[in-house]
Amino acid sequence: MSFQGGPTDRREVASPAAGNAVTGDGNGVPAGDSSRPGTIVSSQRLRLNPNKDHKPDVYEDLQLEFSSSIFSSLERYMPPSMLSVPRDDKVNFMRDILLKYLPPREQNRAQKHKEYRQKIISNYQPLHRELHTMNPTMFFVPAFLKAIGDNTEQSFRSIMSEPSPGIFTFEMLQPRFCELLLSEIENFEKWVNETKFRIMRPNTMNKYGAVLDDFGLEMMLDKLMEGFIRPISKVFFAEVGGSTLDTHHGFVVEYGKDRDVDSGFHVDDSEVTLNVCLGKEFSGGELFFRGTRCDKHVNTGSQSESLQLKQEIFDYSHVPGRAVLHRGRHRHGARATTSGHRANLLLWCRSSVFREMKRYKKDFSSWCGECNREKKERQRSLIAATRLELFKREGESAT
Ligand SMILES: [Zn+2]
Repeated sequence: MSFQGGPTDRREVASPAAGNAVTGDGNGVPAGDSSRPGTIVSSQRLRLNPNKDHKPDVYEDLQLEFSSSIFSSLERYMPPSMLSVPRDDKVNFMRDILLKYLPPREQNRAQKHKEYRQKIISNYQPLHRELHTMNPTMFFVPAFLKAIGDNTEQSFRSIMSEPSPGIFTFEMLQPRFCELLLSEIENFEKWVNETKFRIMRPNTMNKYGAVLDDFGLEMMLDKLMEGFIRPISKVFFAEVGGSTLDTHHGFVVEYGKDRDVDSGFHVDDSEVTLNVCLGKEFSGGELFFRGTRCDKHVNTGSQSESLQLKQEIFDYSHVPGRAVLHRGRHRHGARATTSGHRANLLLWCRSSVFREMKRYKKDFSSWCGECNREKKERQRSLIAATRLELFKREGESAT
């Protein structure tokens, strides 16, 4: 098995090639382009401490290259004279600051992606606008809502099963919500076909499917992560940043005739992945899991520890409306959907805090099967060495 050329970060998806296809501009925006609006006030400095009394503007309705919550937080640090200027000026001021922290290639990418989203939003007519606003009673089944409301490990366990360590499955979405989302996805595909608009696919493994965040569902999915997935992840995935999930990549994948057939063995670019089947009628398409691994050990484990691997083998058959929640580093793939048509909603939840911290860590034995095996191995040989030393000393004192 190999992970080369497998799944990837959204960055690779939005590679210069993909960006060019969208904008038709082979040269891109030069790095540090000074013609960008918003440079008027960049000589002003941010405050050292936030102004806690100031109530920031709402940025949720804007298509920006950074999350709207970043703008709301940063606004409290703006120079006092900037707090009362029009919102667009504030946005430009903050964008200039934020973009400075991105390397030139990333600045270019962020700009291109913003333009790409704007193009979709201004051209695509959504069928079901009610999907854009989080509406818990319409979206989720009552038992799920109750468990989240109670917000305890016990309440979560009461609606979940954990058929294999670290894999949780539970009833989540209302059939009506699945239906609406499926019909919206059909509408995307129809629009894409009619307009010949070249959309970015969700990742390098899928030729079909769409990024929901690009079609106006970003805020709703952010609320889904914050209000519903983070509380669960805080309990079950704390060691991979479950309590600090702060960004997401939300998309749908489609399998079956005239769609993708299967997905190869891979890991996700996420700390926690939510995977919910939306329907419709299909056979095949089972998920297969093969243990959780850190970056260093992602390709290990097939030959040496067959017993360990056997314990890590788990296959799951999708049921519409039912969710699977697992660590992004839990290696998995999807078998061929042999008949019918299957669509799944995927939410890759990420924690920037965890990603920063993991750079300073080497041992991931709390969740990496291979790190854990190595640790146990070290402990075993340490005990054996100590024992040998004791025998030697006993032998010496006896003579
Ligand atoms: Zn490891």
